[in-house]
Amino acid sequence: MAQSYDPNNVFARILRGEIPNDTVLETPHTLVFRDITPKAPVHLLAIPKGAYMTVDEFYARASDAEILDFTRAVARVCEITGIAASVGGNGFRAISNAGADGMQEVPHFHLHILGGRPMGALVEPA
Ligand code: AMP
Repeated sequence: MAQSYDPNNVFARILRGEIPNDTVLETPHTLVFRDITPKAPVHLLAIPKGAYMTVDEFYARASDAEILDFTRAVARVCEITGIAASVGGNGFRAISNAGADGMQEVPHFHLHILGGRPMGALVEPA
């Protein structure tokens, strides 16, 4: 059976202002903040303000305005934090875990943006 969105997940609570966060950028449809347990010198989480559980759900159901806002916000924070090649940075990795096999912990779509060091292999060998 398909899961439904849990309005009490930690990112929903951040969006409602119930939990503090270290915001890097806020736009009409998107919030980008620093991961609380960073895995790299730059570790950002970009989330839509809408109630989407996974990347595929966001791509399938979000409005054009939400998707455009999200993608431009991601580009902007890569520039702000200096990791984008366009501002002289060394690059970054952008990944989204989805569902059980993706090992997603927080069931609100988020894009991890990791940079500031070489990120190594994408996944552990099987
Ligand atoms: P995922 O496994 O893709 O669902 O990743 C969830 C991420 O959320 C992890 O990297 C956590 O460190 C991060 N996280 C959990 N709670 C918070 C919080 N309150 N503020 C910032 N990041 C958080």
